[in-house]
Amino acid sequence: MTITTELQDVVAESLVVDGAQLIDGEWVPSHTGRTIDVINPANRALIARVPESDAEDVEHAVQAAERAFPAWRDLNATARGALIFRWADLIEQNGAAIDSLESQEVGRPSWGPPPMAAQLRFIAGQADKVQGVSLPTYSPDTVGYTLREPYGVVGAVIPWNAPGPMFATEVGSAIAAGNTIVLKPAEDAPLTPLALAKLALDAGIPAGVVNVVTGYGAEAGAAIPAHPRIRRVGFTGSPQTGRSIMEACAKNLTPLHLELGGKSPQVIFDDADLDTAIPAIAAGITLNTGQICAAGSRVVVDRRVHAEVVDRLAAAMQKVTVGPWHQQVNMGPLINARQHERVCGYIDIGREQGATIVTGGGRPAGADFADGWFVEPTLFDGVTPDMRIAQEEIFGPVLSVIPVDDEAQAIEVANGVDYGLVASVWTQSVGRAVRMTRALQAGQVGVNNALGAGVIGAPFGGYKNSGFGRTMGADSVLDWTQVKTVSMREAPLPRF
Ligand code: NAP
Ligand code: MG
Repeated sequence: MTITTELQDVVAESLVVDGAQLIDGEWVPSHTGRTIDVINPANRALIARVPESDAEDVEHAVQAAERAFPAWRDLNATARGALIFRWADLIEQNGAAIDSLESQEVGRPSWGPPPMAAQLRFIAGQADKVQGVSLPTYSPDTVGYTLREPYGVVGAVIPWNAPGPMFATEVGSAIAAGNTIVLKPAEDAPLTPLALAKLALDAGIPAGVVNVVTGYGAEAGAAIPAHPRIRRVGFTGSPQTGRSIMEACAKNLTPLHLELGGKSPQVIFDDADLDTAIPAIAAGITLNTGQICAAGSRVVVDRRVHAEVVDRLAAAMQKVTVGPWHQQVNMGPLINARQHERVCGYIDIGREQGATIVTGGGRPAGADFADGWFVEPTLFDGVTPDMRIAQEEIFGPVLSVIPVDDEAQAIEVANGVDYGLVASVWTQSVGRAVRMTRALQAGQVGVNNALGAGVIGAPFGGYKNSGFGRTMGADSVLDWTQVKTVSMREAPLPRF
């Protein structure tokens, strides 16, 4: 293992798993014997290797999860929750190391200890609140009620942009409900998930409850929805892969939830407090180099404040410092070469379709940037709603400004995309805020706020093509259960 960074001392060596994945509580290689290099996207330094697994490794993991399932399901729910609380404690205690590891594989600057432990505690607290209901009956000699039961072995595939929180919330919700899980992390960022899985074992979560199989999406990933004994699937990533996951699930009639990204609008009215809106919007599109599904990538702005908003956004985005993860910067590189081509390609498309670059639009130059997939924070003005940069998810630090004449047009433009993950409204008018929160088609709407900030247990998920199902909130645990109705009486009703 080569952690060639100034932050080396912060990453606890014991948290970095090299060349192994977790099946049945054991750290094992793939049966293929092959591995995949995990590199730091800021300088392409090798961090560690992970097994290049395929369907055969997934089958082993499913068998382990099947063996672990009955005891985990039957453990009383408070005890299950307590183990997840202990997992959250260990994540918190190792917060700086986890932040450092995630920052190196994702290439982002430090965010400080992650809020993951708090999210996991919220989920742990749901474990013994999974309840059915008692039902009215036609006669007093019958009782009827529902049970919420786990599915059994479930599967998940997560992306690379926020591997720690994705892992903790997906796994936490599934196992809180009593399922056992097989998860495939992204090849670009599997180390934080493996480190978190290690802490789950250390916390006393039994062998086989959490299994992590590493490998490429088309092999190890595709084997999860295709597996007939994986009873439910969770996926976060691109719409294209989401479709193929759903098709594979359709073959086995496996239920699933999908979180497929967004093209989230930031709607600014002429009565908005721009002193708070502008920094929040600039930070929102540059955090994690714009590689956040919820990132507000379209500014839909009242024409009366359009010029001022563009000037101030440009100034705010020019202040965003870019560099490798170990420097005191705001923004790192993109995750990989493909993502870099994609983002630069969209910048070219924006130019070709007639939008105007106000700031950014290129690659930062200099020795610090030579080996990483860096791109400048980029602001486009003169964007029309039909342009590709206004319709398609770029997943980079690229912000498009679209002026509108009034509230009705703001709603039409904000909703005029296939996605519907998150939306924000900036206004001082309560009446307008109420109307907009009802009109916007998104799974989360913020008023003078972005991304459900400050809310505990906020359900997260999409409208329209952004997907279905909800993660993070109490619903996320219920999503991993199925409902059984029980009717009970001494003897059958005579007419049956
Ligand atoms: P992706 O292909 O959807 O990757 C997401 C996860 O799915 C990864 O673990 C990936 O594994 C896996 N995967 C890929 N092909 C698969 C298949 N056929 N069957 C099962 N699993 C499969 O996304 P990406 O290529 O990394 O990024 C492309 C675009 O997706 C981004 O530019 C962005 O627009 C969007 N995206 C959205 C989110 C989000 O949070 N909603 C997150 C990431 C990306 P490998 O990576 O190991 O192949
Ligand atoms: Mg990929």
